[in-house]
Amino acid sequence: MNVSKFTKYSHLADQALSQGTISAEDKLRILDDPDIELLPLLWAAYEVRFHYFKNNVRIHIIDNVQSGLCSEDCAYCAQSKNATHEDAAYPMKSEELILKEAEQAYKAGAFRHCMVFSGRDVGKNRIHKICEVVKKIKALYSMEICVSAGMLTPEEARLLVEAGVNRYNHNLNTSQRAYPKICTTHQYVRRVETIHRARSAGLDICSGVIIGMEESSKDILDMTSELAEVKADSVPVNFFMPIPGHRIKNPRKLTPGYCLKVLCLFRLAMPKTELRVAGGREMHLRSLQSFALYPANSLFANGYLTTGGDSVEATKKLIDDLGFDIERIDY
Ligand code: SF4
Repeated sequence: MNVSKFTKYSHLADQALSQGTISAEDKLRILDDPDIELLPLLWAAYEVRFHYFKNNVRIHIIDNVQSGLCSEDCAYCAQSKNATHEDAAYPMKSEELILKEAEQAYKAGAFRHCMVFSGRDVGKNRIHKICEVVKKIKALYSMEICVSAGMLTPEEARLLVEAGVNRYNHNLNTSQRAYPKICTTHQYVRRVETIHRARSAGLDICSGVIIGMEESSKDILDMTSELAEVKADSVPVNFFMPIPGHRIKNPRKLTPGYCLKVLCLFRLAMPKTELRVAGGREMHLRSLQSFALYPANSLFANGYLTTGGDSVEATKKLIDDLGFDIERIDY
């Protein structure tokens, strides 16, 4: 390949850097045009990634503080009451254990500690427990706290900020159009509402998507637009991992090449956002996992909420082999 061919999509990088995104036509072309060449596309995404993040990579490890038995019927989710396997369900960990895990994260050098609680809403009972434990963590350890605990009222968002929470995770998962296909117990607009409430209260926003359920390319474009609109600071991109008993009717057949194109699309559409390769990287990117770090600057290790994944050591090796630098590990 000569150099001009290699840089044939550099105009997309220029556009992303100068205008903060690329056109809808180019977004669609990345996903749908069979003549799009992957290597030049990865280069264009890398140009943008390098501009904002150099070769730095953040590793994230989730603390699943409460798991399973959620009232909702999200068709992809192993924590739904319809799907929760006995082994994957447990109530909120004791305060003592939560504090111990926070201490371990701090001692391991975490910049941010991320705690996930299953369930539709934060709810009256949990909000006070969560705030109390966050206050104790913040008094003891100098690190940021990210919480994921479902839908929020404006008052709950305010209480989280007062307790010292820095970032709130609430995933969009898919587009508004596709949402009824994956969930019937709540609406997409309620998810967006929670994100706005968290943002208005002063929290940073982490909001992810799941690719490979039943969405169209137009749905993926809508996800990039919505996430840009809510100014998501961090976007985890999951690739659908079918759990036993899931109710997604026609999962998309994901290939490593398609997953990489999706990641390039998100990087070019949201140049400054922390872009995280999330669930399904091992399953769907397979031997091309390291290529994902050309568009993405962040990834999970040690598995996901209810499924396993590569260890921290294996993930560090992947980054090292690529010649990239580990910026930090957040436990
Ligand atoms: S609301 Fe969250 S935890 Fe509950 S089923 Fe849906 S995705 Fe899973």
